[in-house]
Amino acid sequence: MSPRKKLIAGNWKMNKTSADAVALAQEIVSAVGKQTEVDVVVCPPYTSLESVAKVLDGSTVKLGAQNVHPEASGAYTGEISVAMLRAFFASSVILGHSERRTYFKETDAFINQKVIASLKGQLRPILCVGETLGERESGSTLRVVQTQLEGGLEGVSKDMATSVVIAYEPVWAIGTGKVATTEQAQEVHAFIRTLLGKLFGETIAQKIRILYGGSMKPQNAPELLAQKDIDGGLIGGASLEARSFLDLVNAAAAVK
Ligand code: PEP
Repeated sequence: MSPRKKLIAGNWKMNKTSADAVALAQEIVSAVGKQTEVDVVVCPPYTSLESVAKVLDGSTVKLGAQNVHPEASGAYTGEISVAMLRAFFASSVILGHSERRTYFKETDAFINQKVIASLKGQLRPILCVGETLGERESGSTLRVVQTQLEGGLEGVSKDMATSVVIAYEPVWAIGTGKVATTEQAQEVHAFIRTLLGKLFGETIAQKIRILYGGSMKPQNAPELLAQKDIDGGLIGGASLEARSFLDLVNAAAAVK
């Protein structure tokens, strides 16, 4: 049995009005809002954080955000701070998602600033790393993942490290329906855990959860979640409907 509790996190991306987000959150809470076997996090867009927070209140489902700015306040038009997220009782934040790296040119150094600011503000970073198809095909998957991981975690102390969650998300599998094979995923997860061991020591590395993300669906989840170093999923498309998201939570609960 894994020493780590499974975590299923839904990344709703730029989907759902506040009313739609509330309706989805209500369905999730009524189905799994009392269970404690699996940690469940939903990450709505900023515009729905407050309304979804109210729905989650008193349940075991936690609130996450999809991004944050590293500065505490100031002239950063369009941005949101850690304290603003904490004010809605958000407990996690997705950082370094490949869509932010690609479309918004986020670098490892900038992502690292966000990781540090989040940890200092008691917000759990879900740090995403992963290679593109070209990088996999040219044999540089592990090098890319290592650079992103070490860059993103620069300056994170051992004390803070257990609060971090890593998400391995091969870019070629995100939203494409192409899922990594269990062998491909487990190989990279094991590699990440080895790197975490080098950074923070083996005991801490064994406590850090590493999620898989990239077209995870109820059909492929049981096999992925049964892998030794796969501690849950970061779910995009399948988190937008209650049925598929709940099936993923149940799949995680069924892994012994
Ligand atoms: C994601 O964007 O984090 C993701 C994993 O998306 P999808 O599940 O749709 O591939």
